[in-house]
Amino acid sequence: MNQPTAVNEPTLHEYALGLPSHPAYIYDLRGLAAHAAEIRAALPGTELFYAAKANPDAEILRTLAPHVDGIEVSSGGELTHVRATLPDIRIAFGGPGKTIEELSLAQHLGVDRIHVESPRELSRISGPADILLRANLPLKTPDAALTMSGPFGMDEPGLDECARHLAGTPGLDLCGIHVHLASGLDAPAMLDLAAQTRDWALPWLDAHGVRDPELNIGGGMAVDYTAPDSRFDWRSYGKGLPANPVLRIEPGRAMTAYHGWYVTDVLDVKTTRGETYVILRGGTHHLRTPVTKGHDQPFETLTANGPEIRATLVGQLCTPKDVFARDVLVPRLSPGDIIAFTMAGAYAWNISHHDFLMHPKPAFHYLR
Ligand SMILES: *Cc1c(COP(=O)(O)O)cnc(C)c1O
Repeated sequence: MNQPTAVNEPTLHEYALGLPSHPAYIYDLRGLAAHAAEIRAALPGTELFYAAKANPDAEILRTLAPHVDGIEVSSGGELTHVRATLPDIRIAFGGPGKTIEELSLAQHLGVDRIHVESPRELSRISGPADILLRANLPLKTPDAALTMSGPFGMDEPGLDECARHLAGTPGLDLCGIHVHLASGLDAPAMLDLAAQTRDWALPWLDAHGVRDPELNIGGGMAVDYTAPDSRFDWRSYGKGLPANPVLRIEPGRAMTAYHGWYVTDVLDVKTTRGETYVILRGGTHHLRTPVTKGHDQPFETLTANGPEIRATLVGQLCTPKDVFARDVLVPRLSPGDIIAFTMAGAYAWNISHHDFLMHPKPAFHYLR
């Protein structure tokens, strides 16, 4: 990894300009490997799992594998896929509403930890398993983009019920607590949440006789789509994390968001009722991120430059919601000009409604 780019290897820009067809996703595996290595180096003593739901693309998983301690999966589908892609990787199996079939698949394929979401789910696990109980703690997360309360995890009575069940069930081992309480937090807020979680969890685990307790404090590290060059401060986060107990994190978005581009070309430009629209090949059925997040997807215009105008960038779908970026500054664009939507490496293609309108699917390219 981290090899210097050879002189004849195209840069991401060059590669994007030379694509044979649009729309296309490009995953920058070189950049991703370097980014993952930096994160790994910033977190000595903390186990790093990647949350596959952010982007389960097999090439991405293979690129991350040397830099992570394991993969967190949230369904039987992800579990099967990750096990087939990385036969020896450690897997943590989380997610609400696990079925009996999924739980027995976990035993069959072999997982490192099961993150249990409720007493009923726990009662459905047969056979030996190492368990983390997912806690839904009333901790303060003032700046979160999304608070993961509601149906996720258990409050104290649910946790106590699970602990009683585990104490009476040989083969099921209570290893610790799992939380994933919020997303979109910066490093100081994440550290504050980690400290609050630890203060609650260690006495609880001690009271339930758990020796060598583990804490999985989840993912949710902030990604700022308005500042594509900024990064979560992994270094200060790593410095601030406690040295004990065994600590594990499972980020998704902050690992892969920066290393995907959705590249497409302009089909039409028109002004109606005073608004200028740039109509692009493809749409948010390929890149749903701006719709779900309610943001303007960051982009680079690869061919046009010159004086800027205000325009709204839309796709080919027959819905006013098919907007990549609203009323943004762009150079004067013409049909055939190429635009790359950046920060499309997480919660992008895999959360999109591909079949709506039956347009062709994008091609996928990997920069190695
Ligand atoms: C989604 C999820 C993650 C990853 O969250 P990011 O915001 O992508 O870092 C981690 N753990 C659990 C339980 C999740 O549901």
